[in-house]
Amino acid sequence: MQNRGLMREPATIHLGDIVEMRKPHACGTNRWTVLRTGADIRIQCTQCGRAVLMPRTQFVRALRTISHPEASAPPEQQP
Ligand SMILES: [Zn+2]
Repeated sequence: MQNRGLMREPATIHLGDIVEMRKPHACGTNRWTVLRTGADIRIQCTQCGRAVLMPRTQFVRALRTISHPEASAPPEQQP
């Protein structure tokens, strides 16, 4: 029983992630930075700085891809 109807796998979202939405923002980019996670997701447009708060369910539906910047760059080493 893998199929549970319309339920989708919840995306793993981290602060600072760059997300790409299905529809571009009015300013022309569709890349957003995640500012807050939880029941509501706050994202900020990387180009114009506009911040938007939306329910997680709506966010997941509008979401296209998530990239984790910290995954490609090594974490800062504290001496
Ligand atoms: Zn924008």
